[in-house]
Amino acid sequence: MLETTIAGSLPKPFWLAKPKMLWAPWAQEGEALAEAKRDATLLALKEQEDAGIDIVTDGEQSRRHFVHGFLEEIEGIDFNRRVAMGIRNNRYTAEVPTVTAALRRRRPAHGTEAALARARTTRKLKFTLPGPMTIVDTIANAHYGDRVAMAMRFAELLNEEALELEALGVDVIQFDEPAFNVYMDEVKDWGIEALHRARAGLRCKTAVHICYGYGIKANIDWKASLGREWRQYEEIFPALAKSRIDQVSLECINSRVPIELLKLLDGKEVLLGAIDVASEQVETPEEVAAVLRRALEFVPAERLIACTNCGLAPLDHAIANAKLQALGAGTALLRRELGQG
Ligand code: ZN
Repeated sequence: MLETTIAGSLPKPFWLAKPKMLWAPWAQEGEALAEAKRDATLLALKEQEDAGIDIVTDGEQSRRHFVHGFLEEIEGIDFNRRVAMGIRNNRYTAEVPTVTAALRRRRPAHGTEAALARARTTRKLKFTLPGPMTIVDTIANAHYGDRVAMAMRFAELLNEEALELEALGVDVIQFDEPAFNVYMDEVKDWGIEALHRARAGLRCKTAVHICYGYGIKANIDWKASLGREWRQYEEIFPALAKSRIDQVSLECINSRVPIELLKLLDGKEVLLGAIDVASEQVETPEEVAAVLRRALEFVPAERLIACTNCGLAPLDHAIANAKLQALGAGTALLRRELGQG
């Protein structure tokens, strides 16, 4: 009980990509890039293991961005036809590629790094993929009738990928859906249905990660506009509680999410954000334990998993590693308190 995991990403070492930025350019090319990705993946696994993380990831060391790593292997997307699009309901504008033809997966997007990670750790392995709603909110559509039709097609392609990852020995497949916090009605209309298509036939655990984003300025300004309490989860958790997704990863520490909303996830495993990714301040183990302790009023310990609020990718490497240590140590502290460790 009280396992630990991370949302997914970790900072990339400077010899792999430019540090402390999203969409960082690679620092290598060709075979040197492939080797640097392998080395960084091993380092990411080791740092998680040393910190006491039970369900580890590849740290997303082999992709430039959490959405576009998957998209790079999809045919039907024109990466040269970039358009400025307001994304996350116009919270910010991004230059996004365009879907110009029927979508098809050229080859496995993540098989190489998943197989490497599986071979090099005996811990449970989680692998993250972008969710269908977040993908269609991060790409322009010049082919499909509407964005729901495009999302359902992406869900089928994600399903092909997910089934292969499961066959490689991945224990948990997580779909990242920050868009779920923005389009709450659409989550109920088709977002969860798209996730069900993406997870069809899987026997491993499935998770959905729903956050308020990295600590970039657009997100910090948006959070400041959301009022004293953030109640977006209240609209979507009841539908998620009825879904066929096993785990929900959510933002908690230093957020204005009312903690009692956790009770709306009855029956699900809750990945509770106990590490703030928008702050360089390293949490103490006591702070981590305190957030988890509060959550235990609403979620039984056997369904509570300590996690980070979001990916640690844009942070300084040493700070992110210290935060991992705090996550492991804080959870261990609470386990001992509960007589479980
Ligand atoms: Zn996130």
